[in-house]
Amino acid sequence: MILNNEYLEDMKEYVKNMEESEFAKRGTTKAAVLGSQETMEKLWVVYQKDVEDYGCDAEFSISDAVNEVLGAAPLQKAEPAPEKIRAQYRCPFCGSERFIGHQEIRADVYVGGNGEFEDNLPGGMEANIYDSSRPYGPFTCSKCGQEYDPLPEYKQVKLPRGTFTVVSGVYVQKCKKAGYSYHHEDNGYTVLGNGARALAVSNEDYNCYYGGQRSFIL
Ligand SMILES: [Zn+2]
Repeated sequence: MILNNEYLEDMKEYVKNMEESEFAKRGTTKAAVLGSQETMEKLWVVYQKDVEDYGCDAEFSISDAVNEVLGAAPLQKAEPAPEKIRAQYRCPFCGSERFIGHQEIRADVYVGGNGEFEDNLPGGMEANIYDSSRPYGPFTCSKCGQEYDPLPEYKQVKLPRGTFTVVSGVYVQKCKKAGYSYHHEDNGYTVLGNGARALAVSNEDYNCYYGGQRSFIL
């Protein structure tokens, strides 16, 4: 490869137009790069080689040469992931935070000469949604199939025996179906358990959904 001075001139122009911060990222300065014959020659050779030997376009080749000779600029450090926000809703029976609900969506579509829906726009219905409403119930827990409406609020209560997830609006039959078979009372709550998990029912809910009877066997 015979070195062609035009590439050096191009490279000088390119380096002169680079932001000073680009050099700082690579641990050097613009003046230091332009002032070093050795560095400029390396840049020139890589640039010309990319274009003439590898057939790359000039724009790519020039920035590739900078990255190769001066080192690629380190990627910006990613922002630390935000702390996971504690779920507002959670299935008290299985702990799942995922439900199947319903949602109304509005989308742009092709309308035919008869004024009716004709076809989806390119990209499909999903790519052309412009408005959607808040999901509504009934909601089904995607893990255990328990149905809720509204979503079960994730609430916990600290009792002398431990911390329990509070369940409300649930009839005794549902607890029975989910395998809860005993209960004991505690500080304004009744704790139901199935051997693996225990839930707390407020006395108010207990009276409402369990008829106030506290000594029956489920
Ligand atoms: Zn569940």
